[in-house]
Amino acid sequence: MTTSQSLPDPRVRPQLVAGAGGLVDRHGRVATDLRVSLTDRCNLRCTYCMPPEGLQWLPKVEQLTDDEVARLVRIGVEQLGIREVRFTGGEPLLRPGLPGIVAAATALTPRPEVSLTTNAIGLSRMAPALAAAGLDRINVSLDTLDRERFKQLTYRDRLDDVLAGLRAAQDAGLTPVKVNAVLLHGLNDVDAVPLLDFCLEHGYELRFIEQMPLDAHHAWTRGRMVTAEDILARLSAAHALTPDAEERGSAPAERWLVDGGPATVGVIASVTRSFCGACDRTRLTADGQVRNCLFAREESDLRTAMRAGADDAELADRWRIATLSKLPGHGIDDPSFLQPSRPMSAIGG
Ligand code: SAM
Ligand code: SF4
Repeated sequence: MTTSQSLPDPRVRPQLVAGAGGLVDRHGRVATDLRVSLTDRCNLRCTYCMPPEGLQWLPKVEQLTDDEVARLVRIGVEQLGIREVRFTGGEPLLRPGLPGIVAAATALTPRPEVSLTTNAIGLSRMAPALAAAGLDRINVSLDTLDRERFKQLTYRDRLDDVLAGLRAAQDAGLTPVKVNAVLLHGLNDVDAVPLLDFCLEHGYELRFIEQMPLDAHHAWTRGRMVTAEDILARLSAAHALTPDAEERGSAPAERWLVDGGPATVGVIASVTRSFCGACDRTRLTADGQVRNCLFAREESDLRTAMRAGADDAELADRWRIATLSKLPGHGIDDPSFLQPSRPMSAIGG
């Protein structure tokens, strides 16, 4: 595995003390950023994520209820040091209880930063309610501004809904509005510069994400992905990019000032310049499994424990234990790398 940032010191081996401490792994990293998937369902079929026919959805009974989600988020914040909560999916706007779930998270003490990653379909209707629930920020996924290519990429003719959703997010003050884009060779790589120009014009922060081996059909190959280098070469043909001197911390995006700033563009080079050494994430799936990494092949079942009557302290301990075994890196470049069985839509990106 190659990493551009140094790995944590392997001599640091925190011991688990039952009932105490945050989410620390054996490599000394501390997870403070929680991603919560609220559903595995989606109304788009982005080719790098979900097959056109959809997937075998989770049975409703296996999904956490709104109260169960709120309880686990509360345990994360009150007992485990979670400081940021991002709701995702599948498509989180498909979850009817979303405003209530957001309101429960924003009412916690200490107040976590609460954000949402969405394809924005339905956001034009939902944005005011989400802002009223205290949502701080929003990330919208948009891979092209061309209607035909949008249809080709997502198997749905919904570009106008996404654009309306973006406008509504900004009008509701869910700012800065970030736009996430994944590029595919021969499909929408030509959209890199138009997407940047669009975001500059509207005041959205654009970030490109390298395609990762998390597609449902396991069709990803390293040779076919559009790399950070490819993206930067395309953008540089139209704009002057200079590295943003601001401290990156655990943020996955490397940022560049566009034409001298202040606008920036980010690239999340999860594959070619992985940032596992600085990872501060922990994940909860819609069926209540803790995943210590996007690429983890093991999960820890909080739902069954919770429904069997586990109290908050026991659930917190289970979460701590699940964190200890987080691997130092995703290992995509290892010959032995195996894609996790859950696709991105069922993990929560
Ligand atoms: N449906 C919502 C959306 O699209 O924003 C939230 C869930 S989606 C899984 C979250 C993010 O993961 C999106 O920005 C999407 O582009 C990204 N994503 C999905 N599959 C990916 C893959 N194989 N590689 C890189 N990013 C991926
Ligand atoms: Fe749905 Fe998001 Fe996956 Fe696209 S990336 S299919 S919008 S979950």
